[in-house]
Amino acid sequence: MIQPQILHITLLGATGSIGSSTLDVVSRHPERYKIYALTANTSVDEMVQLCQQWQPRYAVMSDADAASGLRSRLAATDSRVEVLSGEAGLLQVVNDEAVNCVVAAIVGAAGLVPTLAAAEAGKRVLLANKEALVMSGKLFIDTARANGAILMPVDSEHNAIFQCMPDSLTQHHSSVKMINQQDSAGIERILLTASGGPFRSWSAEQLHDVTPAQAVNHPNWDMGKKISVDSATLMNKGLELIEAYWLFDMDIANIDVVIHPQSVIHSMVTYSDGSVLAQLGNPDMRTPIAHALAWPERIASGVEPLNIFDVAKLDFERPDLSRFPCLRLCYEAIKRGGSATIVLNAANELAVAAFLDEKIGFNDIAAVIQQTLDSADITEDVSSLENILEADAEARKISNECILAMHSSSRV
Ligand code: NAD
Ligand code: MG
Repeated sequence: MIQPQILHITLLGATGSIGSSTLDVVSRHPERYKIYALTANTSVDEMVQLCQQWQPRYAVMSDADAASGLRSRLAATDSRVEVLSGEAGLLQVVNDEAVNCVVAAIVGAAGLVPTLAAAEAGKRVLLANKEALVMSGKLFIDTARANGAILMPVDSEHNAIFQCMPDSLTQHHSSVKMINQQDSAGIERILLTASGGPFRSWSAEQLHDVTPAQAVNHPNWDMGKKISVDSATLMNKGLELIEAYWLFDMDIANIDVVIHPQSVIHSMVTYSDGSVLAQLGNPDMRTPIAHALAWPERIASGVEPLNIFDVAKLDFERPDLSRFPCLRLCYEAIKRGGSATIVLNAANELAVAAFLDEKIGFNDIAAVIQQTLDSADITEDVSSLENILEADAEARKISNECILAMHSSSRV
């Protein structure tokens, strides 16, 4: 039997929800996966523990203070982990020749530079950081393709779509190589499922008073705070629509968002012969992570198979764009093109952070995004990282002003 190639992994965002699910899957297959580098923002305590457990070659913290904190804590142990910091540290552990797999699980725009670098270095890239793809779109896909990267979607919906694609497209290729071959494969539509979040049936008035604690309490999935709020506003589904557009080269008019409260079907693909293929499973990110790690093989993930008799019932409905305007804004931004999705993403990040800080209300998130999109210069040329980062920085300035104005008017 041919032994699978050992994956030497750089895990970006090791202390997060996806990070810990990845480590859980990896721990079940020590003969297949080795942790080469772990990265985190500033959580020194958690990284001390992870470094002791995993003994990676490198650990990377976002800033020099956190790095020196980690270094001195590890010096008191017998650890030989080398601690790096900042963007240079991230780029070093992504580009390192000893690494053949990068798990991109940093949240938000902060993940863009290292994730894009992983594509450029031709690694196997497990993409959870959807914001990186929303910001860089064509540049990311072109870079991955030009450098022979294997791009595996980790987001449960995109992983499900990948699984529902025909073997003729996926067998020897990653998702980036499917592009332009769908006509002959008979693929007609993508049905992107959404749980609808915790406020699926709430009225606009009720949504006005949503608190951060209510918004981060997702009914089906256990996730980081930012994506939990995004799920509550349906921004997450909008970002995923943009993600599907780029990953599968699918016209936005051929992607339907389907509210499916049970979160059992993780997405579907419709074919020209009338077949609709779906991927089902318990809502646990270890399944798509295991799939993306092992593909084209299958490995145990620790997730129990779905008990179809317990599920009993599957519901589907259309999303309500008036109560959930963030999803509408995503449709508009992808149609507008150019830097619109970069502006939308930046405004959303700041608005969500301000909502979690109790500076603005739940419905203000969409208002901040709308105002930022209305005021920002939408540029057409987003073909370079420099232009993308510039559009992101400008949008952040505008959103900040918007949030300040809303916050001060709510206090008078
Ligand atoms: P999280 O908040 O739990 O973890 C985020 C990780 O990124 C942490 O390790 C944190 O230290 C690191 N990080 C945060 N800011 C950083 C910065 N400025 N620089 C460097 N590192 C930084 O988030 P999560 O829920 O694990 O989500 C991670 C990504 O995966 C997001 O893009 C999210 O949309 C996507 N995703 C998550 C899930 C899920 O179930 N959690 C599902 C699908 C996709
Ligand atoms: Mg998802």
